[in-house]
Formats: sequence, C-alpha cells, structure tokens
Amino acid sequence: MQSLPTVLLRPGEADRILAGHPWIYHGSVLRLTQPAADGELVQVKDHRQRFLGTGFYNSKSKINVRVLSLDRIEPNQAFFEERIRAALALRQKHLPGATSFRVVNAESDFLSGLIVDKYEDVLVVQTSSLGMDQRKPMILAALQAIFGPRAIVERNEVASRKFEGLADANGLLAGVLDGPVPIMLNGLRFEVDVLGGHKTGLYLDQQVNYRRVAELAKGAQVLDCFSFHGGFGLHAARAGAAHVHLIDQSAEAIAAAMRNAAANNLAEQCSSEAANVFDWLKSHTVTTPHEKVVPRWDLIVLDPPSFTRNRASVPDALRGYKEIHLRALKLLKTGGTLATFCCSHHVDAGLFRDTLLSAAFDARRILRQVATYSHSPDHPIIPMIPETEYLKGFAFEVVR
Ligand code: SAH
Repeated sequence: MQSLPTVLLRPGEADRILAGHPWIYHGSVLRLTQPAADGELVQVKDHRQRFLGTGFYNSKSKINVRVLSLDRIEPNQAFFEERIRAALALRQKHLPGATSFRVVNAESDFLSGLIVDKYEDVLVVQTSSLGMDQRKPMILAALQAIFGPRAIVERNEVASRKFEGLADANGLLAGVLDGPVPIMLNGLRFEVDVLGGHKTGLYLDQQVNYRRVAELAKGAQVLDCFSFHGGFGLHAARAGAAHVHLIDQSAEAIAAAMRNAAANNLAEQCSSEAANVFDWLKSHTVTTPHEKVVPRWDLIVLDPPSFTRNRASVPDALRGYKEIHLRALKLLKTGGTLATFCCSHHVDAGLFRDTLLSAAFDARRILRQVATYSHSPDHPIIPMIPETEYLKGFAFEVVR
C-alpha cells in the first residue's frame, strides 16, 4: 500500500472528502508524488500529508480522483462483494418485497461510476468511470457470487463515459437472454427490453411513487402525461381508476404501455395516444373568445424528462414547466389532483413549486398541497453529495 501514488490536495480541499463527497476535481489537486496511470488506485492526502482516503485516478477526467473509501482498501472482488451486499441489504430494508430495483446507485452507495439495476434475475450494469470500467471482470464475478443471475447486460451509452475517455458499449456480458424480461413492480407486470431500445429498462426511481399516486386514483378519470411504459397510469388503473389515458411522444413507448396494460388485464380501462404533451395540452385548452375549457380530469400526472442540460437552460425549462402546469390545471376538475414531478438537477424543489404556483395563479386556481415525493429508496440520498438528490414531486388538490 505504501507504494501507491499519492495525490496531495490543496489547502482547504480536505473537508469535503472527509464529509463524504467522493469527487476530487483537477483544480483541487496540489500535485502527485509519483506518476499514476489512468484508472489506477491512488491514495489521497491533504497538503500536510495526512491520509484522507483511497480512490481511482483518471487524468483525462475533470474529476481526477473518485474516492472509494476513507480507509486503505484493495479494490478486489471481495471489496466489491462486500459493498454490493451492503447496498443490497439497504434495498431489502427499505423496499421490502421488491424484486426489481437499483442495486447500486454510484455515489449514493459509495461506488462512484457504478450502477447496477436488477430486473428480477437479470442484471444491467453501467460503468461510467475508467477505474470501474477497468474492473468490470471482478465486478461481474462479485455479482455472479451474490445473485447467480440468468444474464448480465452492459448498457454503457452514457455521455459521461466520454469525459472519462471511454467509448460506448452495449451488450450481453454473461448468460443468455432471449427477448424482453418480464418483471414485477408492486405486483404489476411490466416488460423490460434491457438489450434493445434506446432507453435503459424502466424508471425504477418512481417505484414507490407509483403506489402513492395510485392511492389518489380510485374512481378517477386519469391523464398520464409522459407515460413511457405506463408506470403511473397502470398503477392508477389497478387502483380502480374509472379510465386512464396515456400520452407519450414515443410510439414505441405507447405500444409497450399498451402491451403492459393487456398483460395486467387493464386494457379495457386504458386508452393511449402517441403525441407531444405540449401540443396535446394546448389543443385541449386553447379556446375561442366566448368558449370555456371544460375540466374533465380528476387526476393528471406530469412526469416529463429533465428539461435542463445545464444551468443556462433553466429559464427555458421553467417556461416549459409553467406552460404544462398552467394547461393541466385548466383541465382539472375542482377537487381533482395534480401529481407532478421534476427530475432536473438544476431546478430544486423550491423553484419547481414556485413555478407551478405561478401557473396556478395565472390559471386562477387555488391549490392544497397533499403530498411530496422523492425518488425511491434504491436511489439513496446522501445529503453531503447534493448530486444524489434530484427527483422531487408534489400532489396538489384543486381547492377551487
Ligand atoms: N412516467 C414515466 C417516465 C417518463 S420519462 C414512468 O414512470 O415510467 C419521460 C417520457 O417523456 C419519455 O417516455 C419520453 O418519450 C417522453 N417525452 C419526452 N418529451 C415529450 C413530449 N414533449 N411529449 C410527450 N412525451 C414526451
């Protein structure tokens, strides 16, 4: 261990690491005591040579070191097995009974650069840092030992790999796979195409919210906007919604949603449309001078993709959020509920809520806040790592 290259930090940079944030930016590094190869394990010390931790080095990335541990560790198969078992135990504690979930969520589980999703007996792995990518064989061996899965698939087509000098990669790493994987979420059946399609699996981070939003759906006329494979809509249908209408601009997503509806005997309650939600809401709310919008929905779900790529796009994103909320609020009956989500890192809960309250003001509607939502516990929030908290949601009832 003594022979590990040492990364010395500039004065003032140590506390963040001690507090649990694993990223060391290029600008925080004072110097290296000896050259380190990209992907290699290094030890990190403060400017007075006090030991802080060990992590993977990559000179090509803006994040020079991703700290793995505040102790001296050897990143071998046993290390990965121990960390992954600890992550699994957390899911078993906080998502009891779930069979499909995110097993490892990178920084949230102190494994920066590694994501592992479990779809029943199939695992999907993503390695977005060089250090993790180089250790794929030992990570796979650890996963085999813990789960004995039917197949392990790699979905490595994320933009962040470029920043680490890694090319895209996609395919079967172990086992056999003969088409989409049938999975269960909260007792409902979904089909997951882990190999094909341009989307990785399902939005597992909404697993708990599907149940919670469905509690508001009994007897309701439900509109599920940005429905993807029908997560919210199908849970609402099962909970006794009178009818559910699903909208997504992807015809593929709508087709999958309707297959899922049929697989759960919910097709009769569901209708769907491949459409742009902005256009759809507009066409249902734009009126001639003496015409009034007739509100006909009891529950509207808005779960759009992130409208922001960076901080500069926040104003445009807020305009987008405001527009869909304004129109959705016009379409809700008095007493109806809006369940709305924002997964953008750059828009926090306060800003998101202010935006939708300003839409409520313009729509002349008064709202009662009845629920707040975050991501499911298989995406743990570590407050010292703000990047681990991204999804926020609210349910609002229309008072009048
Ligand atoms: N609610 C879904 C996840 C939604 S992800 C679930 O729980 O599974 C965002 C979805 O919005 C994607 O399926 C994408 O195809 C769709 N989408 C993005 N922009 C859209 C738009 N302008 N109109 C309609 N759908 C859109």
